[in-house]
Amino acid sequence: MNVSRRMFVGTIGLGAAALAGARAMAQPAAKAGAGGPVSISSANGLRATARALEVLKGGGDPLDACVEGVRIVEDDPADNSVGLGGLPNEEGVVELDASVMHGPTHRSGAVAALRNIRNPVLVAREVARRTDHVLLVGEGALRFARRVGFKEEELLTEAARKAWLKWRSELSRDDDWLAEDEFDLGGTDRGEHAGRGEEGIGRARRLAGLGVEFTTGTIHCSSLTAGGDLSGCTSTSGLSWKLPGRVGDSPIIGAGLYCDNGVGSAGATGRGEAVMQVCGARTIVARMEAGDSPTEACLAMLKMIVDRTRVKRLRNAAGRPDFNVTAYALRKDGAHGSASIWSGGQYSVSDAAGDRHEASAYLFEKAG
Ligand code: ASP
Repeated sequence: MNVSRRMFVGTIGLGAAALAGARAMAQPAAKAGAGGPVSISSANGLRATARALEVLKGGGDPLDACVEGVRIVEDDPADNSVGLGGLPNEEGVVELDASVMHGPTHRSGAVAALRNIRNPVLVAREVARRTDHVLLVGEGALRFARRVGFKEEELLTEAARKAWLKWRSELSRDDDWLAEDEFDLGGTDRGEHAGRGEEGIGRARRLAGLGVEFTTGTIHCSSLTAGGDLSGCTSTSGLSWKLPGRVGDSPIIGAGLYCDNGVGSAGATGRGEAVMQVCGARTIVARMEAGDSPTEACLAMLKMIVDRTRVKRLRNAAGRPDFNVTAYALRKDGAHGSASIWSGGQYSVSDAAGDRHEASAYLFEKAG
């Protein structure tokens, strides 16, 4: 993984030929995986993968393994990226998105903009189990959750409410309403105005000092059984301070999550708008099907995002994305990988070698 990580740095901007060259050089590093059971997750999911591995070792279903792991993080009020304690929308209301995908049956379920239920991933699994639908949103998702027995509660913790109040009191250009000179579709936006952020992860950096760790944040988990069955799930409170009703990539099958039992499972965290616009997780799985290693597949998807980030407000002075996305991939043979646009990322892995964080590959070195 180190080999391909180093080789990919700096390849952006050199075009497809340079990337193809880097990939060719990376070939010897692409090893077969050691099979299951194995579970991978975003960096905030080490407890999730540890729990998922226990379920897998007990002979459990791969989706149950993912869900049982992820619900631990949803239940944790100290994790302000998902579930209870998640950061709210611009009106101070927590709205959650989640999806599940079960490899053996190729069934999926999802909920979006769900209020008052701390475990959207459990509701998503019920959508897949009990209905002929894939995605329920807003009021309909809440009514479904009530009907099948989920308990409603206030999800806004004191810490999240204080962070929201502080953001409200400091409102500036850093909300999700674009100023007139930033409108994206034709009209006034010719990409002439300055980018919003500095080099690096603009949004997170601009909101530093709010006393909250994340302004984005999500948990993804993919699991593989000893028998070679795959599943995945992704859960989030979405971008903090988002417009009410905003739905990110996490509950969109093919964007924040995709699983094909014959190939692999993948997910993404970070700026959902960017992931949706390249069908992120589906793209990763398709790349693995075409022969990429998991890490190469993640990098290829991220490169698609970089190449398509055209409006200036989303780019830094060097023309690179002013946001981050991290991708995760688990192949059917147990090989796994992760990559981010910007350096410094990690992901969680639990397998026979134990529970640990591994470094994510990346496209660009973060300044500082
Ligand atoms: N991908 C999530 C979303 O856009 C947020 C995140 O991962 O930070 O809703």
